[in-house]
Amino acid sequence: MTTVADPTRRSDDRPTDRQRVLFVGGLGRSGSTLLEKLLNELPETRSVGETLHLWERGIRDAERCGCGDEFAECPQWQAIGAAAFGSWDRVDLDDVIDLRWRIDRSRRLPQIFDAVRRQRPSPDQARYVDHLSKVLHAAAALDDGPTVLLESSKHLSTAALLATDPSLDVRVVHLVRDPRGVAYSWTKSVERPEADGSMMPTYSPARTALRWVTDNLGFEALHALGVPMERVRYEDLLADPVGVLRRITAMADLPGTSFEFVDGAEVHVREPMHSIAGNPMRFGGDRMTLRLDDAWRSKLSAKDRRTVTAMCAPMLKRYGYPLR
Ligand SMILES: [Zn+2]
Repeated sequence: MTTVADPTRRSDDRPTDRQRVLFVGGLGRSGSTLLEKLLNELPETRSVGETLHLWERGIRDAERCGCGDEFAECPQWQAIGAAAFGSWDRVDLDDVIDLRWRIDRSRRLPQIFDAVRRQRPSPDQARYVDHLSKVLHAAAALDDGPTVLLESSKHLSTAALLATDPSLDVRVVHLVRDPRGVAYSWTKSVERPEADGSMMPTYSPARTALRWVTDNLGFEALHALGVPMERVRYEDLLADPVGVLRRITAMADLPGTSFEFVDGAEVHVREPMHSIAGNPMRFGGDRMTLRLDDAWRSKLSAKDRRTVTAMCAPMLKRYGYPLR
């Protein structure tokens, strides 16, 4: 798929010093944490994790950052809070959390897409996006290192809302995985290590299949509205990580990047990832082995497989997945 923005949609009168944001988008359990860890190894990037969840899980609930520290102890997040707001204490947390639950929702996509198309968010949308934007600009200004911020909220609504901010240059990695693998993964209980004892939710295969279709269509619609995007299949990322990283860095205008941290199926993890929320995999050591998770092939029941395949059939063909 081409990644050149439609020039008739992205006007040239935007500020030229916009902050580049590489947004990892797609349905959860599609390999986004793995991709984020790989992209975080690039010298020009810095991960902020899922800013969608920063307000509740980070600031309010003091969950652990991807670096292992509690949110309030993580030097990077304290520096971002100080630069963005003076201090996290000065954020009206109830207000931001209220905005998040009213505005950054799938059910609000009609209003959000309208704001993207007109490049004119509503006052509440603008107030919410301003909070995320302040965090992103502060993270980018921490030192003269990274030029691109990695945002991995995954949600289409968050990507689209960020795309209404003229100070941000949002480019999306649209991550797609075989929906039968996604559906199987969402039937499993997974513990969230940053929040003692709490579990991630589970969903039925049919519900996941419906979300898979609507989410992927939505990302394609966002691309049609002029947001640069590169579609990446989880299975391709595992089969040819360097090839996929090359496509993403080309879309993000990061030429000449070295991928020496990938050695076959082994990844040398050098950079701590100061990310909020996300898969338990974001914690972990200095080595990572890339291994395709296709447990669904033996563990998803025939009935569930038929349901998911039927519901996703047109999009399966579009993304090159077999119907059988
Ligand atoms: Zn941290």
